[in-house]
Amino acid sequence: MCGIVAAAAKRSVQEILLEGLRRLEYRGYDSAGVAVVESPAELEVCKQLGKVEILEAALAAKPVTGFTGIAHTRWATHGEPSTQNAHPHRSGKRLALVHNGIIENHEALREELRSQGVVCVSDTDTEVIVHLVARERDRGSTLLSAVQSVVRQLEGAYALAVIDARVPGTLVVARSGSPLVLGVGLGETYAGSDTLALRPVTDRFVYLAEGDTAELKAGAYQIYDRLGD
Ligand code: GLU
Repeated sequence: MCGIVAAAAKRSVQEILLEGLRRLEYRGYDSAGVAVVESPAELEVCKQLGKVEILEAALAAKPVTGFTGIAHTRWATHGEPSTQNAHPHRSGKRLALVHNGIIENHEALREELRSQGVVCVSDTDTEVIVHLVARERDRGSTLLSAVQSVVRQLEGAYALAVIDARVPGTLVVARSGSPLVLGVGLGETYAGSDTLALRPVTDRFVYLAEGDTAELKAGAYQIYDRLGD
């Protein structure tokens, strides 16, 4: 079991994400990565094979400064442990996603995307999700409704978190079959695989039910059930 940490704040989230990942190390993992939305409206992504301390060293050399971000430790299920297969996965320059779990129908989804000219660059089951979200965004959906529409197409287990440089300050998460909890801070909101990951920043937690999605902003969150209500 591996981990997710995500944060929407009004300050750099790099240290919140890194400390969350350190606290999830006990779950075991093979690689780690972060993505944040930088101003003006650009994604910064850093992924490393191996320990969180390797990611930490890379970020010390080249920090990311965004106020909204996602982070991941991966336990490879589809595709070898490698930097290419490490999360976050991207679609274009704007979208980044982290995922824990297994997408059982990833081959059919990958084939559908390929027939529409979308080529996956990793061997993971995860990457299809971010391209499907991108497709919904291109059709005019908000980030939240894009994720809600995509998770309806997924078979398997997922906890996921997505950021989009076109909506800096917004983070969308979803879960079914894999754990994810929200944390509520002072003017900041977070998500994590467990409460331990978020303890340094809050002691207020909100548990997501199976099939829930949530939109997080600094100081606000809204949860929706499987039907979008
Ligand atoms: N199945 C995904 C992968 O192999 C996610 C693994 C995980 O939960 O870390 O990349």
